[in-house]
Amino acid sequence: MKIDIVTLFPEMFDSPLSHSIMKRAIENDLLEVNMVNFRRFGSGKHQHVDDTPYGGGAGMLLKPEPIFQSIEEIQQRSPITNKRIILMDPAGKPFDQSMAEEFSKEEHLIFICGHYEGYDERIRSLVTDEVSLGDYVLTGGELASMVMMDAAVRLIPGVLGNEESAETDSHSSGLLEHPHYTRPAEYKGMTVPEVLMNGNHKLIEEWRHMESLKRTFERRPDMLEKRELTDQEKDWIKQ
Ligand code: SAM
Repeated sequence: MKIDIVTLFPEMFDSPLSHSIMKRAIENDLLEVNMVNFRRFGSGKHQHVDDTPYGGGAGMLLKPEPIFQSIEEIQQRSPITNKRIILMDPAGKPFDQSMAEEFSKEEHLIFICGHYEGYDERIRSLVTDEVSLGDYVLTGGELASMVMMDAAVRLIPGVLGNEESAETDSHSSGLLEHPHYTRPAEYKGMTVPEVLMNGNHKLIEEWRHMESLKRTFERRPDMLEKRELTDQEKDWIKQ
C-alpha cells in the first residue's frame, strides 16, 4: 500500500513510522509512506497557507491552492485512479474498525491533515472521504491520520507476524475481545480460569466466545443491539 500524508508537520510522523509494526511493514515493502508538506505551495515570501475567513470571525483557514497543488503533485507522481483522498475533519464520519478494514484493501490512501480553524470549503470537492477520529477537537489532523493509518496498515495481509493476529481483536468480529491470561497461573491470589488450562480446545473456544459476549454486554451493550442471542448466550451474560 502507498500512503501520502499532506501535512504542515511531516516530522510528527517520524517516530510512529520508525518503530515496531509500521517500521517492519515499510522494511518488508508492504507499505510506502510519502510526506507532502503543503507549505511548499504557500504564497509569498513567507509561503502563507492560511488566510482570514470571508465574512469575518476568529481563526485562520487553510487556503485551497496549496492543498489542490499537493493533490495534483501526488496524482502526477502516482497516477493510480482508485485512490481514497481522506480529509481529517471533526465533522466527518466517525472512524471505526469497518472503515479501517475498507482502507486496508486500498492501493493508495491520501490523508489531508488540517490545522488552525479549518479548511476553505472548496477543499472538500477534492476528497472521497471526510473522517473524524472521534467527538473531540484536536489541534491538527496529524494524530488522527496516524491512528487511522496504523489501524488500516495492521490489517494488510502479511503485516502482522504469526504471533499477532487481527482476527479476534475487539471490534473485528463485532464483539469486544475475551479476557486473556499468561503465566503465572496464580498471581497475588488471582487465578487463571480452569477451562484455559485443561487443553480442551472446544471448551476453550466456547468459553472465549461467551466471555467476549459478556464483556461486550457489560461494556458496550450498543454493539449487541442488532444481534439475536441464543438462550445459552443470554444465560451466560447474566452470570
Ligand atoms: N474549527 C474546526 C471545527 O470546529 O470543526 C476544528 C479545527 S481543528 C482545531 C484543526 C484541524 O485538526 C481540523 O481541520 C482537522 O484536520 C483536525 N482535527 C481536529 N479534530 C479532529 C478529529 N476529531 N478528527 C479528525 N481530525 C481532526
